[in-house]
Amino acid sequence: MLADEDRIFKNLYGYQDAGLKGAQARGAWDGTAGFIKNGRDWIVEQVKASALRGRGGAGFPTGLKWSFMPKEEGPLPHYLVVNADESEPGTCKDREIMRNDPHLLIEGCLYAAFAMAAHTGYIYIRGEYIREREALQRAIDEAYDAGLLGKNAAGSGWDFDLYLSHGAGAYICGEETALLESLEGKKGQPRLKPPFPAACGLYGCPTTINNVETVAVVPDILRRGADWFANIGTPNNSGTKLFCISGHVNKPCNVEEALGIPFRELIDTHCGGIRGGWDNLLAVIPGGSSVPCLPAEQCADLPMDFDTLRNLKSGLGTAGVIVMDKSTDIIRAITRISYFYKHESCGQCTPCREGTGWMWRVLTRMSEGRAQKREIDMLLEVTTQIEGHTICALGDAAAWPVQGLIRHFRPEIEKRIDQYAANPHSDPVIVAAE
Ligand code: SF4
Repeated sequence: MLADEDRIFKNLYGYQDAGLKGAQARGAWDGTAGFIKNGRDWIVEQVKASALRGRGGAGFPTGLKWSFMPKEEGPLPHYLVVNADESEPGTCKDREIMRNDPHLLIEGCLYAAFAMAAHTGYIYIRGEYIREREALQRAIDEAYDAGLLGKNAAGSGWDFDLYLSHGAGAYICGEETALLESLEGKKGQPRLKPPFPAACGLYGCPTTINNVETVAVVPDILRRGADWFANIGTPNNSGTKLFCISGHVNKPCNVEEALGIPFRELIDTHCGGIRGGWDNLLAVIPGGSSVPCLPAEQCADLPMDFDTLRNLKSGLGTAGVIVMDKSTDIIRAITRISYFYKHESCGQCTPCREGTGWMWRVLTRMSEGRAQKREIDMLLEVTTQIEGHTICALGDAAAWPVQGLIRHFRPEIEKRIDQYAANPHSDPVIVAAE
């Protein structure tokens, strides 16, 4: 279990003052000018040495991502963009940072912007996060009033302006290039890559997009040292991580823990165990709805980190852990997730636009048993035609949950088909399409 003194988000639950004074009492904005005076390369090296991996889902090394930006500002301005579009079902971690510890994020923005020679940063926040936007704007205003943002930010000699932009609530705007389009005032549709944003991002200028949690941990990495962060967790999966645990646990919660914490320890320590006991566990979606589910037998001692979960053909994703006990109709659950991706597809690519609807319709029939067993392999084949054949990762995100279902719960689907075949006039299970 993570020691209290190693926690970065000391006000995750909002028990203390979220304002500037409260944040400073917890250590925020301490030594800011000194870190910046150490230079751009020093900050990037610290972040690289900490082995911080992006907390938005992909787990890409943050320091490396920062180093892709041009070293010095050329004729085009550089931009920092913070992705606060947290829309992945099961995920609610950035929300708590913005509500309760917003100054860590703002301070992190200053370091990230300086490290990438950006004088301007945007935080793109999802449409539904109205109170979070208000809290964050309050904190930004406080930071301006205290001279921590704007000209000579925090006495560092670096000018930095930070703006908050409110989205309209589309899931796809969490994809970084769709986010840029939306930020530019256009329809939020992903761009073809390359060019990557570090070369051609916001308004065609060099841009780096980072998740809220990724940026908000940077001040503590600089203050406490890269080694401190790197020594938490497991090799190549270092540091602390916010886990959002929902579903059939006794006490769903958000909690900061060390990466690599075993699943059982995470649930028993912070969530009061599985509803009905561990024998009642059916499956877990470990990283937000887009990653494949894992069956109970793979979960108990599972280290919750990027590499272990990827090796099991799932993923840590956003660490939005969705727990399902044996009362769950797993086929219906994945059908509902499938509907979500169908609804959120932006429609640019045929495999995603047509495939997400096709998968949802077949799954709807399967969840009622109205299908042929040969259609299971046909469905699997369609997921592989979508995965990797689209402009952005939404196609993969739609395909993976279905692949997880078939990989681990094929007998359930076959049983449902057999039951329906034996009694076709029984009431079908109705899967709502809200
Ligand atoms: Fe749009 Fe889907 Fe293509 Fe992404 S994969 S660009 S969401 S159609």
